[in-house]
Amino acid sequence: MSKQTKRAYKYRFYPTTEQKIILAQTFGCCRFVYNWGLSTRKTAYREQGQSLYYNDLAAMLPALKQHYPWLSDVSSVPLQQALRHLDRALVNFFEGRADYPTFKKKQNDQSATYASNAFTWDGQSLTLAKMDEPLTIQWHRPLPTDAKPSSVTISKDAAGRYFVSILIAEHIQPLPVTPKMVGLDLGIKSMVALSTGETVGNPGYFAKDEKKLAKAQRRHARKKKASRNRHKARLKVAKIHARISDRRRDYQHKLSTRIIHENQVICVESLAVKNMVQNHSLSKAISDVGWGEFVRQLDYKAQWYGRTLVKIDRFYPSSKTCSTCKHVLDALPLDRREWVCPNCGTAHDRDTNAARNILAEGLSVTACGGSVRPVRAKARRATPVEAGTSHPRE
Ligand SMILES: [Zn+2]
Repeated sequence: MSKQTKRAYKYRFYPTTEQKIILAQTFGCCRFVYNWGLSTRKTAYREQGQSLYYNDLAAMLPALKQHYPWLSDVSSVPLQQALRHLDRALVNFFEGRADYPTFKKKQNDQSATYASNAFTWDGQSLTLAKMDEPLTIQWHRPLPTDAKPSSVTISKDAAGRYFVSILIAEHIQPLPVTPKMVGLDLGIKSMVALSTGETVGNPGYFAKDEKKLAKAQRRHARKKKASRNRHKARLKVAKIHARISDRRRDYQHKLSTRIIHENQVICVESLAVKNMVQNHSLSKAISDVGWGEFVRQLDYKAQWYGRTLVKIDRFYPSSKTCSTCKHVLDALPLDRREWVCPNCGTAHDRDTNAARNILAEGLSVTACGGSVRPVRAKARRATPVEAGTSHPRE
């Protein structure tokens, strides 16, 4: 029994000069509308206690265009989509998956989404609204035959590269059921510890890139402000960043695919990344391994292939609990990689022990719930500390 799901195919493309101009305008307008939506929403909430959603904001778009006529120079579809993205960002915040949305800046990655009424796809080439020519796409892998793109997202990264992400509704065949189950723990020195005792290391090859990055950043800082050389140096920094994040993502995809293929049930902590990242000594190690992105990949791949991803309450003391006898330590300093249980004498590797507890906890959560559906962060956000970010919850 296959099930229909949406899958994104991402390719690099090379816009013509004319296309670059149209895209730059579109990115700018999307950013403007997104930021306008966010600030309008904030104001309405602060002054009237009113929560504005997509429909409310989209209804104000025509008036906004009257006020800023240049918004009408670009396709109106990406502007509506920018408001949809804002909605999505807010939902992610309310469901505990992300921080409160912030204003978009020109220096960061740019993007614009075209719904199906704003592009044409003839089976071979893709043409966006307001453009005469199709995009020159580097098809490093083919789209599935008879693919009908439901939306297309164009992005430009800080290194100046253009990408097109094509969303396709697809039937994905679930994998054969396996009895295997696994718990995963985010370690500090290793990327993931498995309850099987295996640790998958944070790949050392980032170290070399990081040295290069530090060097490029120093060079950038020495250049005169607003000079051409400074601009070039900034681009160089962005290119190294892009390379690091490409390699990391690639690595995470391989690992998440492997874990999903091998296991029926995968248990993870619905992470305190936000809180942990605020701890400076740890912040680099944790943001480097990109745990949030990794869990996101596990999540959608689990849905594709008929696996179950269980996310566990973030304040379960997985590190401090003995996985053999359930004795809980008073404290376990972060630098203690190994410990012996004072109650039963079992010697533990910190991360493997945590992974085993996560598995046990995950299984008990699914058993109690009487279902094998994934437990979303939203369902279990009972902990008051969770909202302790710099942004108050609305
Ligand atoms: Zn014990």
